[in-house]
Amino acid sequence: MKAIILEKVSSVENKPLKLVELPVPEPSPEEILIKVLACGICHTELDEIEGRLPVKFPVIPGHEIIGRVEKLGAKVTKFRKGDRVGIAWINFSCGECNFCQEGRENLCAKFRSTGCNVNGGYAEFTLVSEDFAYPIPERFSNSQAAPLLCAGAIGYRALNLTKLRDGQFLGLYGFGASAHIVIQIVKYKYPNSKVFVFTRPHQKEHQNLARRLGADWTGATGDSPPEKLNCAIDFTPAWKPVICALEAMGRGGRLVINAIRKENKDKDSLLALDYAKHLWQEKEIKSVANITRKDAQDFLLLAAKIPILPRVQEFKLEEANEALIMLKQGKLQGAGVLRISD
Ligand SMILES: [Zn+2]
Ligand SMILES: [Zn+2]
Repeated sequence: MKAIILEKVSSVENKPLKLVELPVPEPSPEEILIKVLACGICHTELDEIEGRLPVKFPVIPGHEIIGRVEKLGAKVTKFRKGDRVGIAWINFSCGECNFCQEGRENLCAKFRSTGCNVNGGYAEFTLVSEDFAYPIPERFSNSQAAPLLCAGAIGYRALNLTKLRDGQFLGLYGFGASAHIVIQIVKYKYPNSKVFVFTRPHQKEHQNLARRLGADWTGATGDSPPEKLNCAIDFTPAWKPVICALEAMGRGGRLVINAIRKENKDKDSLLALDYAKHLWQEKEIKSVANITRKDAQDFLLLAAKIPILPRVQEFKLEEANEALIMLKQGKLQGAGVLRISD
């Protein structure tokens, strides 16, 4: 099979992803073999490539996988050959620890992630345990469904963590794959809330897309929104939006940071942290880590009901390096997806 592998840490501009020929893997008794149809690209791939996340090299990246069941392990009961399924970032949790037992398997110490600790979907075939695959609602095309599995599901989790109530003001910092799905959830679930979207100053296309999707105001990070924010989600890899969001929030405001890692280049922004201005009045900051299987399942059902319309930009498997460079430069509109087979 054709597969893309990452062998070592590198700058993404060096185009480190290599197209190779590998044998099609064999499923163990609990696993299913998936013929990959589409795989979304995610900012986390940049963190893996550029050394901000521990990766088990060599690895096939990709954790927003849509495919068809090609072959069943001997003990598989949940799927049949030909079923269309999705695989997300969560690849394994132990099921036994306190976190797993209380529904927070995303925090399990034995958590393994697709395309990082185990091979993912930048390939023609991949394996997954039947317990970590999900049926995909009919109404989505393969490319539309792919970004629902990470950008959508983690955005859904982040939105839930803000505890937004209908009528409150929400700020979104950064408007890429995840935020453009979150705004569609907000417009459906909280019709009386106003959404204010902040981007880098030159990202007019992102601001236009935000307004088309119902943003009530758009501006540059650091601008003052028309109302004090009750909640905010930061989707960016930078520090400046954290400070700006804390400043734009009113009393009791909650900021959720939806990023696995922050880049260090603008760390000096943190020196601006002022207790009275940014934290007093019971403002809160919380990160969002991984997702649970329930997040993915609940979100897929909600996405079909709304319905979410992800805006996707398609690439070939061979174009993975170029797609990730565009993602890093903030040049993708909506979500990037590798279209691997039909
Ligand atoms: Zn992701
Ligand atoms: Zn556990």
